[in-house]
Amino acid sequence: MNVDKIKQHFPETNIKVNEPLSHYTYTKTGGPADALIFPKTKEEVQAIIKWLNEEDWPVTILGNASNLIVKDGGIRGATIILTDMNQIVIKDKSIKVLTGAALIEVSKRAYQSGLTGLEFACGIPGSIGGAVYMNAGAYGGEVREVIKQVTVLTRDGRIIERNNDEMDFSYRHSKLQESDEIALEVVFELEEGDKEVIKEKMDELTYLRTSKQPLEYPSCGSVFKRPTGYFTGKLIQDAGLQGLTWGGAQISTKHAGFIVNIDNATATDYIELIEHIKKVILETDGVQLETEVKIIGEDYPALSGAEGSFLKRASNTLKEKLKDKKQKTVIEKS
Ligand SMILES: Cc1cc2nc3c(=O)[nH]c(=O)nc-3n(C[C@H](O)[C@H](O)[C@H](O)COP(=O)(O)OP(=O)(O)OC[C@H]3O[C@@H](n4cnc5c(N)ncnc54)[C@H](O)[C@@H]3O)c2cc1C
Repeated sequence: MNVDKIKQHFPETNIKVNEPLSHYTYTKTGGPADALIFPKTKEEVQAIIKWLNEEDWPVTILGNASNLIVKDGGIRGATIILTDMNQIVIKDKSIKVLTGAALIEVSKRAYQSGLTGLEFACGIPGSIGGAVYMNAGAYGGEVREVIKQVTVLTRDGRIIERNNDEMDFSYRHSKLQESDEIALEVVFELEEGDKEVIKEKMDELTYLRTSKQPLEYPSCGSVFKRPTGYFTGKLIQDAGLQGLTWGGAQISTKHAGFIVNIDNATATDYIELIEHIKKVILETDGVQLETEVKIIGEDYPALSGAEGSFLKRASNTLKEKLKDKKQKTVIEKS
């Protein structure tokens, strides 16, 4: 993989080389992307995907990176981040939006146009593409209820329009999770509403969110899916885990379903803490927790050869120090 070659082939596209993904993820963790690509249009994404296929590059898609943990070794190959592809067009009761737009912004624009149906989404920090991929939802609403059509790009470069039924939406799930298709554009169909009532609803939900969630720290939202018949936060609280600190990551003292980055956490801190929670909850309650957050990328260090083995030694020393720090934390807690 030659990063210069892609830059030469797409001279108009913003492409950053060896770019730390911790600058983009909501957890503020994660290693570098070999090439981080910022397309602005659907056609640009299609051309880039076709070229990358011909060159045999692995491709990763990012939206707002609010539901991801990128491992400390980062992502090899091409990472396409869609946040610059963010046009929103409102006509009558429909909103046509490119999938890099922020869901919060689309919810706000719907309110400004007197359209109801997206109030529930006013505090979900994802992009439209990420929201479709996850069928994001909150306070009784889900994006599937207001989506009319999704334009997708298949990994072999074909553009297809899918209606709502074809998206196979269910709880935190859409067809994209199996098909690997890239959502490019979404049409929302909303209803006319009373702007004051819409605003009141959004204010109420914002109050609920800010009072219950640790929004003052970096996090990736709810780490685990809700297991049938249980509340994850309560399981974690009852197991005595709330407040447990692992390296720089902590099970939030405000909402036990969140893991917050309180002190320069690494992705490894997050992942180890997640595994610890899963183990304890399985032992104490017999419940197998499943992560809602996606864990992607490679372990640190990803380099090979002399440089790699030097980094590996440095990393092991760091790990030993961290282990020491973590053991102290666990002892202090118990
Ligand atoms: C503080 C906080 C609060 C949150 N509250 C909620 C909540 O109330 N409800 C809720 O549902 N979620 C919540 N989340 C989680 C997150 O915001 C949602 O899951 C959101 O939909 C993820 O969108 P994203 O753009 O950040 O996706 P990313 O994290 O960038 O990606 C998530 C997955 O989607 C894929 N993806 C992204 N864009 C596309 C695309 N265009 N085409 C195909 N695949 C794509 C990625 O490859 C990845 O697999 C919260 C997160 C945080 C940090």
